[in-house]
Amino acid sequence: MRTALSTLEVVRPKSLDQALRDLAASAENGRLVPLAGGTDLFVYLNAGAEVGRRFIDLWGLRELRGIRAEGKSLALGALTTFRDIREHAIVRRRFPSLAAAAAEIGAWQIQNRATLAGNIANASPAGDSLPVLMAYDAVIRVRSVRGAREIAFDQLYRGYRELALERDELITAVLLPDPPAGAFHFFRKVGTRRAQSISKVVLAGVLGRAREGRGRHARLSLGSVAPVTLRARRTEDVLREGTPSRETAARARAALAEDIAPIDDIRSTRDYRVQVAGNVLEQFLRAADPRYARA
Ligand SMILES: Cc1cc2nc3c(=O)[nH]c(=O)nc-3n(C[C@H](O)[C@H](O)[C@H](O)COP(=O)(O)OP(=O)(O)OC[C@H]3O[C@@H](n4cnc5c(N)ncnc54)[C@H](O)[C@@H]3O)c2cc1C
Repeated sequence: MRTALSTLEVVRPKSLDQALRDLAASAENGRLVPLAGGTDLFVYLNAGAEVGRRFIDLWGLRELRGIRAEGKSLALGALTTFRDIREHAIVRRRFPSLAAAAAEIGAWQIQNRATLAGNIANASPAGDSLPVLMAYDAVIRVRSVRGAREIAFDQLYRGYRELALERDELITAVLLPDPPAGAFHFFRKVGTRRAQSISKVVLAGVLGRAREGRGRHARLSLGSVAPVTLRARRTEDVLREGTPSRETAARARAALAEDIAPIDDIRSTRDYRVQVAGNVLEQFLRAADPRYARA
């Protein structure tokens, strides 16, 4: 049954500090649910899902907006929309996979409202920005009345839709450290059709050149192939240590089948996802370095 909107309560804090106090006061009893763009929450409400009856609207909080340099990282405020991301010159240049993912999330209407923190906190294993953030070694900044702390993105998900956040904490920003100079960046989303689809497999990768006496920089992260967005660590090891060749690509593909744990569901089968994840990995490697296609 649909939720009657008239029975819902929404509070609109004037500042981040006020929002954190409101959230803390509600943490024990009738917790206020953070509301950003509403593109996930409204769908849940419309479907009658139990998402809560009291909301705290973050949309007006200027402290959560903006994209700015912070040391060697780029800091994206929690309310950064996918439109902000796809149009931002520095994001496009330094983090092209994030801009590419943003451009494939819903259509313009969704991109105008949907926020980066909303995508993260919704914690869908099919969330398209999540593998990208993981492949870029993102760090999530969270705050509560007790202070601020930072969580490495690959430590954020404890299980299916379970975040390592306390009930009174808000995500305030996402920090992206500079990837190695000259690295190859890759993003590919596979859905039922080319636009406006939920991912069956989504893969983000960053591959840097081998440096003196050290292996190459390799990051590979996937969505829709396990209960949580994951880093394909066995595959990364193969890519880090192996020289680019068809043999290394084949070993990486075999490692990837071990790293992921897809299931059959309404969108796809397990076998399809294993096959397609392997195909997309090979596409990534060939694009990064043609030697991955040679014997
Ligand atoms: C038609 C349509 C198409 C879509 N297409 C895609 C797609 O292609 N790819 C994709 O990944 N997603 C897609 N989505 C899902 C959705 O748009 C995204 O997940 C979006 O990023 C959610 O952001 P939001 O600001 O709208 O979140 P909201 O709906 O406001 O909130 C989502 C969750 O995040 C929590 N939250 C929000 N902000 C914070 C914060 N600062 N701190 C802590 N918790 C917070 C909320 O409490 C809630 O649990 C689509 C949705 C629709 C309706």
